[in-house]
Amino acid sequence: MNDIGCLVVGGGVIGLACAAQMARQGNSVMLVEQECRIDEHTSSRNSEVIHAGIYYAPGSLKAGLCAEGRDLLYSWCQDHGVNNRRVGKLLVAVTESEVAALEALQRNARHSGVDSLEEVSVACLRELEQSVAGVAALFSPQTGIIDIHGYMESLLADARRHGADLVLDTRGEHQAPTAQGWEVVGGSCGERFKLHARCVINAAGLFASQLAERVEGLAAAHVPATHWCQGRYFAYAGRAPFSHLVYPMPETNTALLGVHATLDRGGQVRFGPEVAWTQALDYRVDESLREEFSRAIARYFPSIDTNKLTAGCSGIRPKCRRRPACRRFQHSGAANPWFAWPGQSLRDRITWADRKPRDCPACLPASRLSH
Ligand SMILES: Cc1cc2nc3c(=O)[nH]c(=O)nc-3n(C[C@H](O)[C@H](O)[C@H](O)COP(=O)(O)OP(=O)(O)OC[C@H]3O[C@@H](n4cnc5c(N)ncnc54)[C@H](O)[C@@H]3O)c2cc1C
Repeated sequence: MNDIGCLVVGGGVIGLACAAQMARQGNSVMLVEQECRIDEHTSSRNSEVIHAGIYYAPGSLKAGLCAEGRDLLYSWCQDHGVNNRRVGKLLVAVTESEVAALEALQRNARHSGVDSLEEVSVACLRELEQSVAGVAALFSPQTGIIDIHGYMESLLADARRHGADLVLDTRGEHQAPTAQGWEVVGGSCGERFKLHARCVINAAGLFASQLAERVEGLAAAHVPATHWCQGRYFAYAGRAPFSHLVYPMPETNTALLGVHATLDRGGQVRFGPEVAWTQALDYRVDESLREEFSRAIARYFPSIDTNKLTAGCSGIRPKCRRRPACRRFQHSGAANPWFAWPGQSLRDRITWADRKPRDCPACLPASRLSH
C-alpha cells in the first residue's frame, strides 16, 4: 500500500492551494482529481473577481480572510505572472430608498478594515460610467479581476515544483482511521486503489459533504449538509458598455449580491449571477431567463440592448445552512480542509480549518455569508 504524507482530494482552487502549501512545507503530497482536468467545476465557473471585503460582518473570519487573501492574491499574481487587473468596482444605489443600504455597506466595509471605498457623486458617476444610472455610488479601487485558469495553473506549477503529484481521473471514496493516519480507498482510471496517508485534506467542493459521509467513525452530526446554489450568467455582445465592475445594492434578506456586471479579461461584459437552488450538476443556462436578466440589469443600465444578451456559463456553489456544525465551516471561509494528524482522537483529528473563528456573537445573517 502506498504511503504518503498528505493526500489532497479535489483539484479545484482550494485543493491546489492546499497541495502547494503542504508541499512547500516539506510533506510528500498527492493531489487526486476525479475529472480528467483540474478546472471542471466551481473554480472555473465564477465571476473571477478579487473581492475587496466589503460585505462580510466585521470581525468575522470571512471578513479577515477576504482582506488578507485579497492582498496575498494580488502579490501572488505579480510574483507568478498571473493576469489580473484592478479595474475597480462601482456600487450603485439606483433609487433614494437604496441610499441607506449603500451607506450601511460603507460602514460595514470601514469596520472590516476596508478604508479605500470612495464616495462618488452623481456627476462623477456619469463621468466614470456614462451608461450607469444611479443616485449615489461608492467606488472600490481594491476590487479586481483575475485569470482564474492562469491562477490555477500557477498553483499547480508551484505544487509540482515542491514535489507534489497530481493524479487525474482518480476519486477518493472512503477513509478509515489508522494508528498512523488514514487508509483511503478509491478508484483510479477504472481500477481500485488503496493508500495510506498521514493527513487527508477534503477539498472536494460540491462533493465535500458526500466524501465526509464516508469517513469511517465520523458521526453524521458532524457532517454539514450542503445545498447547491447555481449562479447563471448572460453575456453581452459587442463593445463593453462599462470599464468598471458595476454592482447594484445586495438584495434584502437573501444571500445575493444582485445581478451585477463583471468584465472578463478580454474586456467583454457579462451579467450575473442570477441564482437558484439546484440538485443537478447541469451547467446549462436557459435562454428563457433573458427577460428576468434584462429587468434586473435595466435598473442600473437603462439603455441596455436586450438583443445583445445571450445565455452564458453557470457555476454551482455548495452552501452550508445555519446549523451549529456549519458555523465553523462558514467562519472558516471558502476552504474546507480537514487536517488530520496521527496521535489525535478521530473527532480531534477532523477539524474544519487551521484557524479559530474570531469574535462572532452569533451565526451571521445569510446575507453576510455568501460570496
Ligand atoms: C457563480 C459563482 C460565482 C463566484 N464568483 C466568485 C468570485 O467572483 N470571486 C471569488 O473569490 N469566488 C467566487 N466564487 C466562489 C469560488 O468559485 C469558490 O469558492 C471556489 O472556486 C471553490 O473552489 P473549490 O476548490 O472548493 O471547488 P471546485 O473548484 O469545485 O473543486 C473541487 C474539485 O474536487 C473534485 N472532486 C470532488 N469530489 C472528488 C473526489 N471524491 N475525488 C477526487 N476529486 C473530487 C471536483 O471534481 C472538483 O474539481 C463564485 C462561485 C460561483 C458558483
